[in-house]
Amino acid sequence: MTLPFDIETQAGAARVGQMRTAHGPVETPVFMPVGTVASVKGVPQDTLEELGAQILLGNTYHLYLRPGHELVRKMGGLHRFMSWERALLTDSGGFQVFSLTSLRKITEEGVTFRSHLDGSSHLFTPERSIDIQIALGADIIMSFDECTEHPAGERRTRESMEMTLRWARRCKSHFDAHLQSRKSCDLRERGGAPSRQALFGIVQGGMYAHLRRESAERTMELDFPGYAIGGLSVGESREKTREMIAATLEVLPKDKPRYVMGVGYPDEIVQYACMGVDMMDCVLPTRAARHGLLFTSEGRLNIKNSRFAEDHGPADPKCGCKVCSRYSRAYLRHLFVAGEPLAGVLNTIHNLSYYLDTIRAVRHAIRLGNLSGIFQVAYP
Ligand SMILES: [Zn+2]
Repeated sequence: MTLPFDIETQAGAARVGQMRTAHGPVETPVFMPVGTVASVKGVPQDTLEELGAQILLGNTYHLYLRPGHELVRKMGGLHRFMSWERALLTDSGGFQVFSLTSLRKITEEGVTFRSHLDGSSHLFTPERSIDIQIALGADIIMSFDECTEHPAGERRTRESMEMTLRWARRCKSHFDAHLQSRKSCDLRERGGAPSRQALFGIVQGGMYAHLRRESAERTMELDFPGYAIGGLSVGESREKTREMIAATLEVLPKDKPRYVMGVGYPDEIVQYACMGVDMMDCVLPTRAARHGLLFTSEGRLNIKNSRFAEDHGPADPKCGCKVCSRYSRAYLRHLFVAGEPLAGVLNTIHNLSYYLDTIRAVRHAIRLGNLSGIFQVAYP
């Protein structure tokens, strides 16, 4: 299935484009807030709409374990279940299986793992991941890949990359078979539109530029409507992340969306968008918010700091979000120190607003053809 993607403007390597999903357009470069279990922790859907979130990311691993993909299917799919009419993307579950579970066993067939919830044993294969993601019904779904551990030697990284390529082939043929059967079923029974889900491939290759390039070339042979760069932000230096992204972008097709998974700080989002990345997601703005860390135009702010106890000012004087226009740092600090649930909610709304404003400013700068003025402070 193709995903219509038009590039509107370019400035250097950066571009502003639009993906047209079955649940509306998504302007790129885009930042996707993470809604792990069909919820961006603490933030209701109407607020996410107000903030201008165009697409959310859901985690296949978490949704499979709870509430279960068959339940979500019965409830009409993830969009209807969580009452979110805009676009959704699900990851393949690969990253969580490798990062969250213990006692996993990786074979050619797939990965056997124990649930982090109750210790029960499960098997994810490429086919299984696709079936679960079809049941969830997100607009963009991802191939099941092996996220290579870091650090890893070249030989090990190559083996892992080869496995991801074989799994990508299995994901693609399983998904194509589903589309075929769906098409004939639609024609026969309902005359309705065929599935509008799009399956993206994932480039691996660890911290080796030549493996990244090879992984990109060979993944492209499978002809996906979009490509992700996975296995980054796993403990390597920022310079290394940038180098791996640059090596991969050289190879990836310019007319397809390019997605860097799991990054990053606000200045990284800007940097990668300027390099020509179209999509990014990260738990950082939401997770940091729950720990009292706010991203602002003045840098990172730790709201629990006692110096804010009598501070009348907003979290970020340059932010127009509904938290900054209403509440003081003193109040946000008090909520956090008192352990009030509202602290996490308000901090998350501000951080998401900051990220979404940042990426909006990048799109604006690309349209103006002037990227020099957009940034700003560096975050650790
Ligand atoms: Zn704000």
